[in-house]
Amino acid sequence: MMKELQEEILRLKKETGAAILAHSYQSPEILEIADIRGDSFALSVAAQKREESTIVLCGVRFMADTVKLLNPEKKVILPVDQAVCPMADQIPPERVRRFKENNSDFTVVAYINTTTRLKAECDVCVTSSSALTIVKKLPDNPILFIPDANLGGWIKRQLPEREIELWDGCCPVHAAVTARDCALMKERYPKAKLAVHPECREEVLTYADYVGSTSGILSFAEQCKEDVIIGTEKSISDWLSLHHPDRRFPVLSKKLLCSNMRLTGLTDVYRALLGTGGAEIQIDPALAQAARRPIMEMIRLGE
Ligand code: SF4
Repeated sequence: MMKELQEEILRLKKETGAAILAHSYQSPEILEIADIRGDSFALSVAAQKREESTIVLCGVRFMADTVKLLNPEKKVILPVDQAVCPMADQIPPERVRRFKENNSDFTVVAYINTTTRLKAECDVCVTSSSALTIVKKLPDNPILFIPDANLGGWIKRQLPEREIELWDGCCPVHAAVTARDCALMKERYPKAKLAVHPECREEVLTYADYVGSTSGILSFAEQCKEDVIIGTEKSISDWLSLHHPDRRFPVLSKKLLCSNMRLTGLTDVYRALLGTGGAEIQIDPALAQAARRPIMEMIRLGE
């Protein structure tokens, strides 16, 4: 049944001239039929290079918005309208605007996991893989880093010379992991390496052999000779286990399941291609112009 549905999706994709882009946290059956797999930034940039005029983005809302912002001429469809990242709107945009009015010397740095309205209030966006490079290149002004205090804290500890204020947001999935989870898994897999995402708490990062973005964790695990404990969404552990059956990739904690990322199934992708499901992304042109600016700045500084 699953194979038949995948084949039907591939047929429809060809017929409609669409491309399927899937975030690495999607299920293996979706990743298998995707034209491009990767993190949110890689997907947005990849969308610009695709010839297809329709993009089906399997992930959460801010990712589809980012693809649309960078590819305004393309039709972008999110297969499940309710798939949103709870961290993306942890800050009302008005609060950032007020902060800037009272602190005009600050540069506001926004993690890409933010809503379009929030991006429009910021100076530059970053991803987990580009954050350090970009923050290093910013002028010497104080920085407000939003919304993830864990990612921001990780950057701040590496740049003690910079004045960086953190917002108290977090990814509820990664922030649920504790040092106790690390101690238990290290005991269970004493020879395994531990790779974690910087959205995890500091107490977790101190246990890690590697800290980095989703793509970074994938490369680290693929290059390792040992088993690797995966400190990010469970789908990464599933993907590695499927493609490297000779090694083990246990997930650091059973809490590492993002229910929003898991909302999209093959049927949703099928319906999105048929035109009977999903949501086409529409962004007000003035808002899009304001939100595109920090993303373009991220691309410029991240090079
Ligand atoms: S894993 Fe965390 S940051 Fe990623 S989509 Fe889920 S809640 Fe948002």
